[in-house]
Amino acid sequence: MKPITPTQWSFLKRYQGTLDSKECLSKRFGGDGCDGRIVHAHMIPRSQLLQIAEQGHVHAVPTRLSPIAQMKRSGFQAEDIGIGNFSTLQCFCARHDKTLFAPLEDVALTFTREQLTLLHYRAMAAEVYVRGNAEDAAANEARKYLSSDPRREPFYEAFRIHSLAAIAAEEHFKRTENMINLSRYDEIRAAIIRFHATPVVLSVGAFRPLYDVIGTKLQNFSEEAAYIGMHILTVEKMPAVVFTWLKGQKPSQRFARSFCLQPYRELTTLAVQTAFEYAEHTCMRREWWMSITKGWRTLLLNRIEMANRAASVPDEDFLSFEFPLDDWKCRSIDFVK
Ligand SMILES: [Zn+2]
Repeated sequence: MKPITPTQWSFLKRYQGTLDSKECLSKRFGGDGCDGRIVHAHMIPRSQLLQIAEQGHVHAVPTRLSPIAQMKRSGFQAEDIGIGNFSTLQCFCARHDKTLFAPLEDVALTFTREQLTLLHYRAMAAEVYVRGNAEDAAANEARKYLSSDPRREPFYEAFRIHSLAAIAAEEHFKRTENMINLSRYDEIRAAIIRFHATPVVLSVGAFRPLYDVIGTKLQNFSEEAAYIGMHILTVEKMPAVVFTWLKGQKPSQRFARSFCLQPYRELTTLAVQTAFEYAEHTCMRREWWMSITKGWRTLLLNRIEMANRAASVPDEDFLSFEFPLDDWKCRSIDFVK
């Protein structure tokens, strides 16, 4: 195993610096009234993390560059992460983080249209922030080389891939922000799947579904690609999987539909697979992670490793159900139309 060289460390530090850029996203499309410093905003609320934490820690695969660089050598692993440090992004100022999300943080989660819109908004904010910074970081490096230099190629390719995602994500984000500014939530769509079990996994993310869960092609990664938000949360101390999207986003709707049409006993496995494939902010109770088979742990870690390659494109059967991982006992599915 080759160690990471000092030059590689300084590159990782510089790259991570751009990925950690501070920006209040509520300003991006002309909002105002920012106040206070940029905070480490939680994508998964602390109150949710506490429900699966053991001694203040959740179990997750690190997402920062230096542990990833090490894991690319030694193999991907999950580890304990303090809940104060998990799923935080520097993408809102103190005031906007508090006021925007008050209807999610200060009130019980009952999936009102306003709460669903805010869940979607936060998942999209994470995507806009992460993709935008990844685009900038890649562009900064690509600029250092002449266009004929082969060292430029991987950075240019990463720039192209993240930039395409950022364009599509910003469109959605803008539309969702507009709904919040007008307090009009009629364009949010959702599928809410409730389970009857002790919560062991939490996840928040937004992605562009290329295929549905049975392998039917839905779309390509174009500038207009549809996004879907995925959330694994706890409601009344039980797990709930919530998909969110905006009116008219057919690929997102078809993805959610295909998910909900599968047999109840397959839904837990499909939800966990999807969360590991797409959602950067996925964590679990350590006890649960240790209780699943080594084969499953390897499969799920491979998904994360694949997802960490900018150029990875899932194939049609990557989500399909093969054998059960767990069953949290689905008790209801509701659509918000
Ligand atoms: Zn702000």
